[in-house]
Amino acid sequence: MDIHEYQAKEILGGFGVPVPRGGLAYSPEQAAYRAREIGGERWVVKAQIHAGGRGKAGGVRLCRDEEALEAAAEALLGKRLVTPQTGPRGKLVNRLYVEAATEVARELYLGLVLDRLSERIMVVASAAGGMEIEEISARHPESLIRVSIDPALGMQPFHAREIAFGLGLEAAQIAQAVEAILGCYRAFRDLDATMVEINPLVVTAAGKLVALDAKMSFDDNALFRRPRISELRDKSQEDPRETKAADRGLSYVGLDGNIGCIINGAGLAMATMDMIKHAGGEPANFLDIGGGATPERVAKAFNLVLSDPRVEAMLVNIFAGINRCDWVARGILQALQRVEMRVPLVVRLAGTHVAEGRRILEESPFPVIAADGLAEAAEKVVVAWRQARQFAEAQEAAA
Ligand code: GDP
Ligand code: MN
Repeated sequence: MDIHEYQAKEILGGFGVPVPRGGLAYSPEQAAYRAREIGGERWVVKAQIHAGGRGKAGGVRLCRDEEALEAAAEALLGKRLVTPQTGPRGKLVNRLYVEAATEVARELYLGLVLDRLSERIMVVASAAGGMEIEEISARHPESLIRVSIDPALGMQPFHAREIAFGLGLEAAQIAQAVEAILGCYRAFRDLDATMVEINPLVVTAAGKLVALDAKMSFDDNALFRRPRISELRDKSQEDPRETKAADRGLSYVGLDGNIGCIINGAGLAMATMDMIKHAGGEPANFLDIGGGATPERVAKAFNLVLSDPRVEAMLVNIFAGINRCDWVARGILQALQRVEMRVPLVVRLAGTHVAEGRRILEESPFPVIAADGLAEAAEKVVVAWRQARQFAEAQEAAA
């Protein structure tokens, strides 16, 4: 689970990480009020969304007076901000964070991640802050400092000092950095985080160390014992299709195409998506209904895929191993009886009892387009999608 920057800053501040003074705003008036509360002469208005890259996308604005502040707030609130990390639809901005502007002398990078390979918390730091970690590792790999922490020992001050010295900090900043790094580690460990990232961690013109940005993610499987963290969840930042799927126990990832997919097995799902692209289409989703594929699950999957208005054609691709094609076919028929099928449907069945499965679909009253192989199924669904689109366009032109 991800949280907002302002929430991460509040948490990390509680663990001794220095953060700028700030306040949350839901309206331009409130933003101006926050600025007065904070004091000073320059402020930064920051769009709160669950994605980075806001700076480049106009989601972080420096303001010199109240008028500029209200204008910035007006421009951001209620809009969808598109950054390199949000995907083309962007994320809705419904909260702003107003902060006292910081005069920056140096931008550093500090990140803590769960390294699954070594089963340890890994601290990554770099003197080349202000750009994304992927860019740092590509352009300045030599600047990366990595320290992995033995869980039995925990992070010791010497670990933090090693990182602080590696960042080339001056004596006056070493103690501040050590406290901030130890604070991040304790927050990570005590709250079941999977990621803490401060990018940039800055040295101000006055020589103080400040976390200018903050990002935290948490282990979903530990949320049951972190009620105060669970409360920070903001569903408006999640893909509603994925939230719905997770609530129904289906493994679903929303994509930007028009061809809805229902597939059993993650590997087959990946292969099917590749084949759809190869045939000239774009998948609307990744959906693995798992090995069971009972009529109930198939019906749920149909509902979920069809609830996406972008879906204009559908492909069901099932390989029955432990399962049986005749059972799956009956599941599909039951699903078709329950849902309103508004798009063409291509079904490819393979595996156990495949002849019986196909016969059931052929004899059904529903216009199911059958396919034998994976390539054929992908081609047929792309053709069906193109025809459906042409038909819809012709109807629109006639109306
Ligand atoms: P992100 O783009 O979503 O990662 O948002 P950040 O909070 O990291 O802000 C983007 C960039 O804006 C930072 O890397 C800074 O260079 C700049 N920035 C943000 N706040 C301030 C500030 O108070 N003063 C100055 N000088 N720059 C800031
Ligand atoms: Mn940042």
